[in-house]
Amino acid sequence: MLNVSSTREDMWNRAESLAWRLSAELGMPVKLAVTDNRSTMVSFRRGGNALQLRLHHMFLDAPETVVRAVADYAGRGHRTAGVLLDEYIRGQQPRIRQVRRESDADLNPLGRCFDLQALYNGVNATFFDNVIQARIGWGRMPPRRRRKSIRLGVYDHQTREIRIHPALDRPEVPAFFVEFIVYHEMLHQLFPSTGRGGRRVHHPRAFRERERTYPHYTAALRWERENLGVLLRG
Ligand SMILES: [Zn+2]
Repeated sequence: MLNVSSTREDMWNRAESLAWRLSAELGMPVKLAVTDNRSTMVSFRRGGNALQLRLHHMFLDAPETVVRAVADYAGRGHRTAGVLLDEYIRGQQPRIRQVRRESDADLNPLGRCFDLQALYNGVNATFFDNVIQARIGWGRMPPRRRRKSIRLGVYDHQTREIRIHPALDRPEVPAFFVEFIVYHEMLHQLFPSTGRGGRRVHHPRAFRERERTYPHYTAALRWERENLGVLLRG
């Protein structure tokens, strides 16, 4: 979260000017993404002749020495510059978003019909070699109202939490369908959205290709199509 005083446009301008300063310092194009991460403050990848850099927004108003340390660390591979960065990050600790405590408590995987943790563990072992690291639970039942669509699952990259819509926790819903929704949300960790701003692609091509390899893929889509009405009535 940003300070109340800093508007989106302001942040955009500062990001642009920071990217420009780093490009000038390094003599190569720098593609900068500004994050609100909780654990990774600086990450980068060198590809071709450009530097792809992801920085926490605390760096937008960092002093010149710190900006130079970012360039040394990410652009020139100087490990020692990391010490200065660590120091800066420690001093900016209050700007790092904290996990909401209550979210830990209300993430309950055990429903009336399905144990999401058991489904998740099975999917992780069978399809992901246990590399996915997320917590899972049932979402809260939304207030009753007419709905035209329903979001059956959601994955939060920041908290690494998967929430499944409680409308699925019913005996009429086949286990393979719930498993498919869990599988889909887990794929989001493996294939994050691409693009930025209004052009975000939430399901990149690699995501969709991998999704189709789910053994009950066709059956799951058909079940959803034929039973959407039931789900919408909640
Ligand atoms: Zn999705």
